[in-house]
Amino acid sequence: MIRRTPFTLKLFTMPEKSYTQPLTLGVDTGSTMIGSAVANEQGHISYLSEVKIRNDIATTMKARAKARRNRRNRKTRYRKARWLNRRNSIKTGRFSPTMRSKIEAHLREIRFVQALLPISAIVLETGTFDLHALKNPEVLQKKWLYQRGINYGFANTKAYVLTRDGYQCQHCQGESKDQHLEVHHIVFRSQNGSDEERNLLTLCKTCHDGLHAGTVILKKPGKRKGNLAHATQMNSIRVQLLQQVEGAEETFGFVTKEHRFLAGLPKTHTNDAAMIATRGNQPLFQVKTVLAKKCVSDGDYQQTKGVRSERRIPTGKIKGFRKFDKVRHRKQEYFIKGRMSTGYVILMGIDGEKVDLKPIPKFEKMKRVSARSSWIMQQRIMGRSSYSPI
Ligand SMILES: [Zn+2]
Ligand SMILES: [Zn+2]
Repeated sequence: MIRRTPFTLKLFTMPEKSYTQPLTLGVDTGSTMIGSAVANEQGHISYLSEVKIRNDIATTMKARAKARRNRRNRKTRYRKARWLNRRNSIKTGRFSPTMRSKIEAHLREIRFVQALLPISAIVLETGTFDLHALKNPEVLQKKWLYQRGINYGFANTKAYVLTRDGYQCQHCQGESKDQHLEVHHIVFRSQNGSDEERNLLTLCKTCHDGLHAGTVILKKPGKRKGNLAHATQMNSIRVQLLQQVEGAEETFGFVTKEHRFLAGLPKTHTNDAAMIATRGNQPLFQVKTVLAKKCVSDGDYQQTKGVRSERRIPTGKIKGFRKFDKVRHRKQEYFIKGRMSTGYVILMGIDGEKVDLKPIPKFEKMKRVSARSSWIMQQRIMGRSSYSPI
């Protein structure tokens, strides 16, 4: 046995009539969540996962800086001040720790799947829209021709417009609470309005219907401020991944979305990943579970407790257990959230929410299933989501 979750065996001798099939790994990249799936040439899905990326790095680093400044004031005031003396922070072209963690999370997931299955191709969805194709729509003609009936060029522009407008109705600014967003032609199509980005505007269905019925008049037609900060962050992830994952194919969210729509699947990270892995063909799910993972920190910066920092916080094991260890307690699996020297334990699910158990669990009553690592993971039944999709 190589792994317990997902249960993986390694054969030491190959059976005589055996073969390995070429498998494609599809990855829906993101800045908060990664979806990944593995499909064979017939579209059978054999692996599904959802990875929640860390988004706490900037906050925890600020907390560390605060603790260090405080410590310097108390204990090392006599030392000469040193500034910008760290090799890493004066390096050019350096990524922020947040970005490094996000890129590393993607690469770790890809390596994880490659260690389990014979992956022969990798398809990455690196962004919602293709900025290059926005100016040169003819590049889309050559790609994705296998799905007829889809206007990929317009789908790309629509995805761009939605991102530019921050997924918000540009008339009521979300006041109507209508979640259904549409893309409106400022100069109507019937009056030869173009399909270009300049002529398009995001409206909710309520405002859009009202506008065409004549009951709503646009306040400031055509004037909008762009919001592409998130897209910029995603673009650095994109460049890094394409550089570091050898031979990866690239696809975009607007393509996945159209194909997922044709396949009749609701929007989830795993469904998107499945569509990416099958390159737009109908996925046939052979797995009933999704591997849910959550990236966790290696440790805490806070070292002591108490008014005068007199109590050291133990970072090693307490009675053989560490924070984030996976444990079995009364036939259920949990993760350790907090440990008390009195022998009591606070347990949590993969979402990080505390689980209230009566009586309060003790170390003696539980078994350690697996040690902590850079992520915690648990299998869950497909369709049941512990994270709500964006
Ligand atoms: Zn509206
Ligand atoms: Zn319209």
